Amino acid sequence: MQKPPITRSEPDETGHWGKFGGRYVPETLVAPLEELTKEFTRARNDPHFWRDLNQLLRDYCGRPTPLFHAERLTAQAGGAQIYLKREDLLHTGAHKINNAMGQALLARRMGKHRIIAETGAGQHGVATATVCALFGLRCIIYMGAEDARRQALNVFRMRLLGAEVVTVNAGTRTLKDAINEALRDWVTNVHDTYYLLGSALGPHPYPLMVREFQTVIGREAREQILSTTGKLPRALIACVGGGSNSIGLFHPFIADEQVRLIGVEAGGHGDSLGEHAARFHSGAISGGGRVGVLQGTMSYVLQDANGQVATTHSISAGLDYSAIGPEHAFLHDGGRAEYIWATDDEALEGFRLCAKLEGIIPALETSHAILSAIRVASELPQDDAIIVNLSGRGDKDVQLIAELQT
Ligand SMILES: *Cc1c(COP(=O)(O)O)cnc(C)c1O
Repeated sequence: MQKPPITRSEPDETGHWGKFGGRYVPETLVAPLEELTKEFTRARNDPHFWRDLNQLLRDYCGRPTPLFHAERLTAQAGGAQIYLKREDLLHTGAHKINNAMGQALLARRMGKHRIIAETGAGQHGVATATVCALFGLRCIIYMGAEDARRQALNVFRMRLLGAEVVTVNAGTRTLKDAINEALRDWVTNVHDTYYLLGSALGPHPYPLMVREFQTVIGREAREQILSTTGKLPRALIACVGGGSNSIGLFHPFIADEQVRLIGVEAGGHGDSLGEHAARFHSGAISGGGRVGVLQGTMSYVLQDANGQVATTHSISAGLDYSAIGPEHAFLHDGGRAEYIWATDDEALEGFRLCAKLEGIIPALETSHAILSAIRVASELPQDDAIIVNLSGRGDKDVQLIAELQT
């Protein structure tokens, strides 16, 4: 029997999109997550909350971000018009600040003065340290030691902003280990501490809450493309780590069935488990993503035959994670969104093309979406348009690229 097409994507009261999502946490976190859900629901329905948030997004973060017609990338593709949603122009250089600002306002509403967060590439850590400085909140950032090494400049930035950066030496010393440490801290200090999670991941209400704070991207993009071209785009393309910038762009278009939603995962440098972070490609890339629970939520998780969570690899720290947000799992299984992957080498080529053809140095995460966008555009007529989410700028990656070239 054919499934009906998906035209909306809302979780039930327990935070489930179908079987995905939910709340798989130790007993001590159930009450705090309930409290958070209640306060978020109240804030979500409070016009004063949105007025304050929108004002800060405008005056402090730099919203709305432009939708830029990338003519030379378009010429390179020789097909549909390519538009770039310029989240890289936001304060701190990526979409992460949209969510950090929203949650910091929520923390303040809840009277919590100690903020903890995890970070991979360091972008979420910088965004969190920034909003904590702005509101005078204490800030502790957990970061894997390997990520801290790859993104030393961001560690320095966070410290300049007054945050305490705790490097984590457990496991593979990357994002998953940082989240474990942050969760451990939260369990211990939950009475005065707010956990400001950085992607559309984790136990309910985080996947929903982070999405709500990121959908500003898609709402603006929808208005902008309609006023520029007079019609909806044929496709949206975004890189997918935990899934926040992509769901933020996709969500306001879910009911527009003619708009393709395309997420790009990290294909890394090989097909075997451990060499990539393409959670949806158990068939094409050998070994991998199956339904399971990781860090509080049910979704697709890269795991071995025994259900052990697999290590991942990506040239970009921000896509280097074994699981994907539960709403993406739902959109994937329902056939509403498509997921492809780009390898490290393809990301590097996208990075160079975007820099040379448009004068925009994208983040390595973002770079995963560039070649795919060219491919998709090349198969469409010139009077159609596609939107690429330019999730962040590449200043943080320039040193890594320089090292690769020597
Ligand atoms: C963190 C990050 C990502 C990946 O995270 P999502 O939650 O999947 O958006 C992508 N791009 C940039 C620039 C990032 O900083």
